[in-house]
Amino acid sequence: NKQVIFKDFVNGYPKTSDMVVTSDATIRLELPKNETGLILTKNLYLSCDPYMRNRMNQTLEGAYIHSFTPGSPIIGYGVSRILDSSHPDFKKGELIWGLINWEEYSLIKDTSSFMKIQHTDVPLSYYTGILGMPGMTAYVGFYKICSPKKGDTVFVSAASGAVGQLVGQFAKLFGCYVVGSAGSKEKVDLLKNKFGFDEAFNYKEEQDLNAALKRYFPDGIDIYFENVGGKMLDEVLRNMRLFGRIAACGMISQYNLDQPEGTHNLFMIVMKRIRMEGFLVFDHYDSYPKFLETILPLIHEGKINYVEDIVDGLENGPDALIGLFSGSNIGKQVVVIAHE
Ligand code: NDP
Repeated sequence: NKQVIFKDFVNGYPKTSDMVVTSDATIRLELPKNETGLILTKNLYLSCDPYMRNRMNQTLEGAYIHSFTPGSPIIGYGVSRILDSSHPDFKKGELIWGLINWEEYSLIKDTSSFMKIQHTDVPLSYYTGILGMPGMTAYVGFYKICSPKKGDTVFVSAASGAVGQLVGQFAKLFGCYVVGSAGSKEKVDLLKNKFGFDEAFNYKEEQDLNAALKRYFPDGIDIYFENVGGKMLDEVLRNMRLFGRIAACGMISQYNLDQPEGTHNLFMIVMKRIRMEGFLVFDHYDSYPKFLETILPLIHEGKINYVEDIVDGLENGPDALIGLFSGSNIGKQVVVIAHE
């Protein structure tokens, strides 16, 4: 059983060498006879998500999750097939998505995070992204937290990623004017040509982010979908309109810093009566069935596009995961262990 083991707590940017790929021959591929409530899975697709970096810290202030355990496998969202089950709610052959160890096969006791996959007329890898946790994040973040109105001006950072590409398309379908920022020309082209953003820019090429935002939002921003934090947030605050909304989804630019950057323009929240609201997708999974009802037709009717960056092989998982922090992923980063 091949596994990706977390070596030790990380300071600064994570490295491939913070993880090691091993093969554990001691895992028996059968359910124990004297215990019930277990499932044995074959793991197919793994999701690389920015929050996983936070689990590499020894201490997590204000955390909603635990740190990874040194010497144990990395844990993340994934898609699995059930090979065998002694659990009353799960049957052999069923497909599930939820939190799994980064390994080929798992013997699982805690099934609390698993959702059953009912719709298989889409690629199964979609359950790591558009039909899984990041898709729900975009849906809840945009429709619930941003309180959108038709005609609103919307800015999305890290816009070509798993969450951002969907937020931008939801906002377009809703009738908003949408601009995204991303870190390369290729990503900017994707935003404009594939995802239908009205405008997009490469934030790495802008000397003055305030001027860039003024170029695309001469009358200001109604909604900011915040994925990156730091300098971008600071400049966005100066460009928000009165009664604007900021959905604080994530702040990836801060995850590898020992000392988070300061925000200088917070007083704008008062002056412009901005509502800035943090949210975690985990609080909203009761909306998952409604989300599927909304998104599946959009996929089938070709009204929403989705780009994945698929890497083959568990052994390439560590590179794929740390690549999120240099922006090497183009679209949702997925690792394939096996297709079936
Ligand atoms: P992405 O697929 O967008 O991958 C991360 C991207 O972030 C990279 O490709 C890179 O794109 C960008 N990035 C990396 N470092 C920086 C930096 N220093 N400054 C600016 N951009 C950077 O990830 P997701 O879509 O999965 O996640 C997006 C955000 O949403 C993250 O902040 C994540 O933590 C958050 N999130 C929050 C959830 C919640 O429940 N609140 C749930 C899921 C995600 P580029 O080339 O454009 O720089």
